[in-house]
Amino acid sequence: MKKQESPGAGGKAHLPEKICLACGRPFAWRKKWRASWDEVKTCSERCKGELRRETRAQKNASA
Ligand SMILES: [Zn+2]
Repeated sequence: MKKQESPGAGGKAHLPEKICLACGRPFAWRKKWRASWDEVKTCSERCKGELRRETRAQKNASA
């Protein structure tokens, strides 16, 4: 007999994951991204800002 994991028993939901391009950590799908999951590249707004800063710094060397 195999032990079966019952859903909802403190287990994780089956959600897609990505690796954050800013901090390199894996993060899971969230409701707020349901419309733009393909475009999500970072785990948080903070990382998003950092990534932007980096890409900008490479193109525009102002400020
Ligand atoms: Zn991140």
